[in-house]
Amino acid sequence: MPQTIDELKSIVISYDPKAKIADIHRAYTFAADAHKNQKRASGEPYIIHPLAAAITLAEMRLPDTLIIAALLHDVPEDTAKTIEEIEQEFGSEVSHLVAGITKLGKIKYRGVERYIENLRKMFLAMAEDVRVVIIKFADRLHNLETLDSIPPKKQYRIALESLEIFAPIANRLGMGEMKGRLEDAAFKYVLPKEYEWTKNLAQTVIRRSDSYLERAIVILQKDLQQAGLNIADVHGRTKHLYSLYKKLIKNERNIAHIYDIIALRVIVDTIADCYAVLGIIHGRWTPLKGRIKDYISQPKPNGYRSLHTTVFCEEGEIVEFQIRTKEMHENAEFGIAAHWSYDERKTTKNTKKDIAPVDWVNQLIDLQQDISDKKQYLKALDEVKIDIFKDRIFVFTPKGDVIDLPEDSTPVDLAYAIHTDIGNTCIAAKVNDANSPLDRPLKSGDMVEIIIDKNRKGPNPDWISSAKTRHAKSKIRQFARSKISNWIKGVIPNPFTKK
Ligand code: MN
Repeated sequence: MPQTIDELKSIVISYDPKAKIADIHRAYTFAADAHKNQKRASGEPYIIHPLAAAITLAEMRLPDTLIIAALLHDVPEDTAKTIEEIEQEFGSEVSHLVAGITKLGKIKYRGVERYIENLRKMFLAMAEDVRVVIIKFADRLHNLETLDSIPPKKQYRIALESLEIFAPIANRLGMGEMKGRLEDAAFKYVLPKEYEWTKNLAQTVIRRSDSYLERAIVILQKDLQQAGLNIADVHGRTKHLYSLYKKLIKNERNIAHIYDIIALRVIVDTIADCYAVLGIIHGRWTPLKGRIKDYISQPKPNGYRSLHTTVFCEEGEIVEFQIRTKEMHENAEFGIAAHWSYDERKTTKNTKKDIAPVDWVNQLIDLQQDISDKKQYLKALDEVKIDIFKDRIFVFTPKGDVIDLPEDSTPVDLAYAIHTDIGNTCIAAKVNDANSPLDRPLKSGDMVEIIIDKNRKGPNPDWISSAKTRHAKSKIRQFARSKISNWIKGVIPNPFTKK
């Protein structure tokens, strides 16, 4: 069933009865008229695309201004109507948002330049108005969901770019649901076989879990009621496929090692209730050691808050529980967009919501100057020290791939992030075309070339102290261990004596 403007309007009315519904309808008519001679690659009328983007935003309960801007987002770039006409018709706030999306528009570069240009544009847009990037995500999501009708080469490029640029930024903005949807839609095109494999695996687990999860929910609800706790909601959530896939890869593709394919979420009123629920769950079922995570007292860098625990549940099955308040839940799903999402609990406009601080957004807003080249861009990134880069860096390979590493990572970390064999045989690195020691920390934006020697016998054990990632350290240790055991077994000569 194609989506309709009536559907959009009824979603908006459901969360904000005072929204400017007539303006939303007018924006729809304006856009439909402007795009009237255009079709999507699928042959459908063009208007289905801005409408879909607007509906995605309405599902996040965003204000009418964003909905209107989403409906108009492709008008200035693709039609005869101008941004000035939009301003006259819908006011300066809407036209400002639409202009922001248009600026993000087309990127003409290839390879590394393309990535840099893309990241630069995304960060600039965020600096000016984060809402522009939120609309852009909704736009990209619909494009990804309708990739089937465009040529395979273009499919792959758009999907890869979404995986490498859009999803990580959504993640940094705490938009968990958007990140998951972007990744899953892109995953299908970037790694089609792996996507099918993961999907089938997940479906088997989900089918099997129905009975014991249902029982667990009933038991838990009774326990919580008896304790006098008010539960807003208990529901099961299935892990997004791409994040499941990444976890499978880290765990030798063994699904038995992954406990959170399905998690039970318990939503309660207060933080005290969260801890009370945790106690009740542990009283009912035995927790697994080392799997209790308190992201309430120690939120994740992107602001995520929840209590996680994994228990031996009904029928001896291992089940993860995620316990949080409504506010935490909304922030986990919508992230920064939750700042604007309509909330009936808000009595006055300026009520401060229970939301993790996002200082770097303010710092970005201060960064108003126009950054025109790569050097200036990198310098500006250094200056703002935004949280996106506080604990993660993005470096580029000569082929233009973007690799996301923890801060202070070295070329050794990068080498192992690319492939264990690259790590084991790397001998030197070039950073921005200059020779660099393997243990010198990298910076965001560095272009790093790893030089390997296929004849190299293995990593230098000293690298363990300079490597930052657990992945690299464990690979280096693993190699050393296998060498020692081979030496003990007499397979190889003493590796610690020089030839
Ligand atoms: Mn669009």
